[in-house]
Amino acid sequence: MLKNKEGLLVVISGPSGVGKGTICKEYFNQKKDAFLSVSATTRQPRQGEIDGESYHFFSHEKFNQLIKEDYFLEWADFCGQRYGTPKKPVFDCIAQGKDVVLEIEVQGAMQIRAKHPEGVYIFILPPSMEELRKRLEGRGTESKDVVEKRLQTALKELEYASKYNYYVINDTVENAVGLINKIIEVEKLRSERCNLNI
Ligand code: ADP
Ligand code: 5GP
Repeated sequence: MLKNKEGLLVVISGPSGVGKGTICKEYFNQKKDAFLSVSATTRQPRQGEIDGESYHFFSHEKFNQLIKEDYFLEWADFCGQRYGTPKKPVFDCIAQGKDVVLEIEVQGAMQIRAKHPEGVYIFILPPSMEELRKRLEGRGTESKDVVEKRLQTALKELEYASKYNYYVINDTVENAVGLINKIIEVEKLRSERCNLNI
């Protein structure tokens, strides 16, 4: 009787180390029919990251070529590296009625929001800045310099938090994923997103 007109575009941002990747992984364990966009980046793979799954790892030359070819929905510089969302898979999935989740930083999110205000924009907050530092250091994937750079960037990113539709505090992964599930569930019931067939 009630059917969504198309898939939902969900954009998730938050400071580095807050737990976005962990939350998205758990969300997709629970929602196998949704689509998590695979971004492109110029940064080096971390241990265990797989090309084409974690990211598409591209050289700067290749990335810049793809910018010229209008391959990206958005792209941004973050702590000295480039990151971008391939456009085609996102809109193919939305047209097929699949919900699409983008886990991206704030500049890219703001580029998309300007063109797609119908999306749902969620900002993940840490329980405290001390806890953010602990998580970022505890992950152990970046050098001390890069951790400091990412913490500095986190302060700038937090200035954009109020531009998002929802805040989610990642105190526990279970709570954060539970809230994201609820937000998406309710957003999908908005009348303008549905066809009602009686
Ligand atoms: P991001 O993708 O935002 O950079 P990650 O998902 O890589 O962050 O998480 C950063 C670190 O924090 C990881 O070591 C992860 O295991 C840990 N972490 C994530 N969520 C929580 C949480 N709710 N409580 C404690 N540690 C967490
Ligand atoms: P990381 O190097 O920790 O994987 O990612 C660094 C930052 O880049 C994170 O905030 C992450 O959300 C963001 N990011 C990942 N993919 C994209 C993307 O396609 N576009 C933009 N703008 N940011 C991205």
